[in-house]
Amino acid sequence: MSEWQTLDSTYIAGTYRRFPVEIMNGKGSEVWGTDGKRYIDMGSGIGVTALGIADDGWVAAVTAQLGRVQHMSNLYYTEPCIRLAKMLCERTGMKNVFFSNSGAEANECAIKTARKYAADNHGADRYTVVTLQNSFHGRTVTTLAATGQDVFHEKFLPLTEGFAYAVANDFESVKALCEQHNAAAVMIECVQGEGGVLPLTNEFVTAVADYCHQTDTLLIVDEVQTGNGRTGTLYAYEQYGIQPDIVSTAKGLGGGLPIGATLFGEKTAKTLGASDHGSTFGGNPVACAGACEVLSRLTDDFLADVRNKSKFVFGALQGAKGVKSVSGKGLMIGIETERPAADVVNECRERGVLCLTAKTKVRLLPALNIPTDVLAEAIDVIKTVCGRD
Ligand SMILES: *Cc1c(COP(=O)(O)O)cnc(C)c1O
Repeated sequence: MSEWQTLDSTYIAGTYRRFPVEIMNGKGSEVWGTDGKRYIDMGSGIGVTALGIADDGWVAAVTAQLGRVQHMSNLYYTEPCIRLAKMLCERTGMKNVFFSNSGAEANECAIKTARKYAADNHGADRYTVVTLQNSFHGRTVTTLAATGQDVFHEKFLPLTEGFAYAVANDFESVKALCEQHNAAAVMIECVQGEGGVLPLTNEFVTAVADYCHQTDTLLIVDEVQTGNGRTGTLYAYEQYGIQPDIVSTAKGLGGGLPIGATLFGEKTAKTLGASDHGSTFGGNPVACAGACEVLSRLTDDFLADVRNKSKFVFGALQGAKGVKSVSGKGLMIGIETERPAADVVNECRERGVLCLTAKTKVRLLPALNIPTDVLAEAIDVIKTVCGRD
């Protein structure tokens, strides 16, 4: 074991199985290890570094804010969070925003809001949130409860009450659970990320949205992974022609700094009042300055470019030797491989390409601005590795 690995295993809680790669620095979609080895980063820190590593514009925005004020708490007004909230609302039609520091917290806020809205409007026994089997919504006790996968629950029982799990892409299952539990909300990921990069169908999402609208059940869309340009539109729900009541997002929004955001629509904008919710770090000026830079870069042309890169990747991998199928949207891509995904990821890494897995698939979440030649180089390696016997 190297010195870093020994110290890490001595002093850091053993919750992560890390790859044997020690990252020194990077630029764009390339990173370098302590041994000088170059890697192409096809995971972008699990969909976080949307503009790649140490992007010039992002570094400038963040360091400028660092030199002004790094934190004041939510007892005072600061400018970056106001600018960011305005940008988010103007680009989505949502009405206002609560800022936190992670995806789980963004969902926690969405769930609290749904409970309060339902209690205010329909009485105290309306609190269940229907989520989908195979979903992932976070690792706090409540967002674990929202996560429809038993493997995550087992060691941490009892979880927060008030969740029921419907079958993805089966509207009747959602409807039945909503009726049975007098549901406050339905929460979905338009593309299940951790669940295996599985997009929901149009018919299902529109049926759920219609049902929610008719019954005043809130529709919460978890865009923690799918959001901020990842799927080729600013938010994935846009591709389904729906308007959620609550949108949660995080990961790519800050471009590498921790931030979560919960966006409220017409119905829910006034649900939370003074002292109903809060976060010490939420709306941090430095994180928000980084997020403003990310959002301002996600123009229509930029998003069209994401969709073009997506077409290139799908085109290159679909039907390739050793590739069973390719799923996902935009630059959120799952590859069902003939070889075990872990073997493919390990061999890609040895050949200088960092990939992720999701369930049985190889998962790609490259920086949205990955240069085409770097992307092509990585896809070549992935294809070669998938095709080996
Ligand atoms: C990653 C993820 C989360 C949790 O985000 P954290 O920042 O790790 O708390 C929640 N929902 C989805 C869909 C995610 O992909």
